[in-house]
Amino acid sequence: MAKYDYDLFVIGAGSGGVRAGRLAALSGAKVALAEEHRVGGTCVIRGCVPKKFMVYASEFAHEAEVAEGYGWSTGERIFDWKRFLEAKDREISRLSGIYVTNLSNAGAELVHAKARLKDAHTIELVGKGEVTANKILIATGGRPWKPTEFEGAEYAITSEEAFHLPELPKRIMVAGGGYIAVEFAGIFAGLGVDTTLVYRGPNILRGFDDDVRAHVAEEMKKRGVKIVLGSQHASIEKTDRGYLSRMTAGGDIETDLVMFATGRKPYVDGLGLENAGVALREGGAVVVDKFSKTNVDNIWAVGDVTDRINLTPVAIREGAAFAQTEFYDNPTTFDHDMVASAVFSQPPVGAVGMSEAEARHVVGKVDIYLSRFRPMKTTFYGGDERCLIKLVVDASTQKILGCHVVGDDAPEIIQMAAIALKMGVTKQQWDSTCAVHPTLAEELVTMRDKYVPQGAAA
Ligand SMILES: Cc1cc2nc3c(=O)[nH]c(=O)nc-3n(C[C@H](O)[C@H](O)[C@H](O)COP(=O)(O)OP(=O)(O)OC[C@H]3O[C@@H](n4cnc5c(N)ncnc54)[C@H](O)[C@@H]3O)c2cc1C
Repeated sequence: MAKYDYDLFVIGAGSGGVRAGRLAALSGAKVALAEEHRVGGTCVIRGCVPKKFMVYASEFAHEAEVAEGYGWSTGERIFDWKRFLEAKDREISRLSGIYVTNLSNAGAELVHAKARLKDAHTIELVGKGEVTANKILIATGGRPWKPTEFEGAEYAITSEEAFHLPELPKRIMVAGGGYIAVEFAGIFAGLGVDTTLVYRGPNILRGFDDDVRAHVAEEMKKRGVKIVLGSQHASIEKTDRGYLSRMTAGGDIETDLVMFATGRKPYVDGLGLENAGVALREGGAVVVDKFSKTNVDNIWAVGDVTDRINLTPVAIREGAAFAQTEFYDNPTTFDHDMVASAVFSQPPVGAVGMSEAEARHVVGKVDIYLSRFRPMKTTFYGGDERCLIKLVVDASTQKILGCHVVGDDAPEIIQMAAIALKMGVTKQQWDSTCAVHPTLAEELVTMRDKYVPQGAAA
């Protein structure tokens, strides 16, 4: 008789957990997953997917303006938030259902319960008893974090609630400068909400290239987002008309809703990791090695709960590498270098590799190629939006270290650029690629002159 109920027990049926659990089950292992909310996790239920639907919905307003410039008469534009929410929720349910079906087809069991460790092999399924497993995978993801130390912080919502607002506010303040804050500010502004983005730092999108950060902020302003930098909440007061945000840099701002997108934390609350002796970093992330193994020999962790690169495809690849290593006798690690990412801001960003500042710090001398221009779609109707394309090149080896794009289709463009950068492409090889005309992306392979900032000596 088997010593344990399961070969593998996965806690959390999100991006990482589902991939790992399904692959492990397909190897013939006896696998179960616990999910306390809905199968699909953050990405499908309250992250990437519903967010992208909201971006699509909000972009139509701008597209309609562009359409006018191309000869269309678009008439009165009315957006029905409730109708959108119903369609969004239908699609999310369909996608979640596909995850459930795939797990079941692979032979994995699904338990709808919160799971917590009692010891290194015993899992309590709250309200549903206990099970034991030889191997355990923690894939519990992250949760939004918001400050609580000031008066009225409880009035602010997070991205979790933003997907289910009973109605669209007329005015919103989004606090935060990361990609989630920037994306939601764009969404609300596009949907006609008077939007203010407040961030305590010197500019939005910390961690991205400085030229990208400045460019996105300027373009967002052109689309009507008010950006307040160097300030944060001192308090929030409820008023007859909404919420009054009092700011540390002065200036009170009244809106109907305040949303905090001020970061996320690994979700380890109530997980009982201490009962198994699993080590955590400061801030709560589970400590893992390159095989995603924790300090406890039979426990692994993948995805946002490990706080490495908190993106869906990364969680999936970490989960797959774990399954390959432990259930297919194929030791596999995931290489976290050159992971491309997108910000679905309006206009969107695609980035892979190092920012200019990072590259200067790491390799020293770099060549910069930079182009800011009005794309042909915009010049046609006299619009003033600009794209940005930037390459960061190692001056001695000519290897391209970073590629940054802001403009229509930047997330699609960057996926392809990432292949070349991952392969170690040099600027010369890159330039030997013939352009595709007329596109925005052709500019990437036609930048011949190094960028010299205005006023700098050549
Ligand atoms: C608003 C937003 C937008 C995003 N947009 C993007 C994007 O555009 N692109 C991108 O790549 N990434 C995006 N992300 C990040 C992405 O969603 C995460 O990186 C990804 O979902 C992480 O997967 P995971 O498996 O680690 O965790 P999750 O997907 O969060 O899954 C964890 C699951 O575990 C469950 N769980 C937790 N604890 C327990 C327990 N004790 N018992 C049972 N179940 C439990 C949770 O309910 C959840 O379903 C976004 C995130 C947010 C919040």
